[in-house]
Amino acid sequence: MSDKAARVIAIDGPSASGKSTVTRMTAQKLGCLYVDSGSFYRGITWKALRDGLDTADAEQVIALINRMEMTSHIQDKSVMFSIDNEEPGDQIRSQPVQEHVSDIAAVPEVRAFVVSMLRDTARFGSVAMEGRDIGTVVFPDTPYKYYLDADPEERARRRFSELADDSGYQNVEAVYASLKRRDRKDTTRTAAPLQIALGAKVIDSTAMTAEEVVDIILADIHRLEGTAA
Ligand code: C5P
Repeated sequence: MSDKAARVIAIDGPSASGKSTVTRMTAQKLGCLYVDSGSFYRGITWKALRDGLDTADAEQVIALINRMEMTSHIQDKSVMFSIDNEEPGDQIRSQPVQEHVSDIAAVPEVRAFVVSMLRDTARFGSVAMEGRDIGTVVFPDTPYKYYLDADPEERARRRFSELADDSGYQNVEAVYASLKRRDRKDTTRTAAPLQIALGAKVIDSTAMTAEEVVDIILADIHRLEGTAA
């Protein structure tokens, strides 16, 4: 596929719906940058917990985003970030971050801050971005919108199998319970709740491999651009 004008591929869906693998593979196939928008919310949550803040107290969280410095850069064809010159690395996947990230992501000021950082990544060129509100809020005008879903049990199995041994989760049931809690918070919050973007192509990946999902997305992009797959 030739790289014409910069493209934004928006891939939304609930936790562990396969977005990360699919978005990474899509970025690789198209030769564009990969952006994990959830990692930005996780990064701020990591920083808040490290500073000993109460993540349920929006005032404390807003004061944090006003005083910290978050900057993005490219590393291995992905957009990464540092906060006050530190990269959180795998710590953004830890259980404490996992349990508090939805509180932080529900604060409108945090969302406005992250949305502007995410939009800014397009200055690097074409991007494939995964998240919850990419097609609805961050890049509502992109023609390339996809909504990935899968049964909750399958999502819990996938997430459990990819967790590190020291993640803090004992079994797949604990992961399932945590996913359901986050699904509820993400879909019922007032600010940019998870929903299917207007014009998004919905893909149920429960019984599909990541490759099959990527093939559907690439075929759709070709179709939209009027080029042969
Ligand atoms: O995708 P991931 O599971 O890493 O996202 C972590 C959390 O960040 C989600 O549960 C959600 O609360 C929040 N998030 C969001 N909007 C996005 C991406 C993530 O609210 N675009």
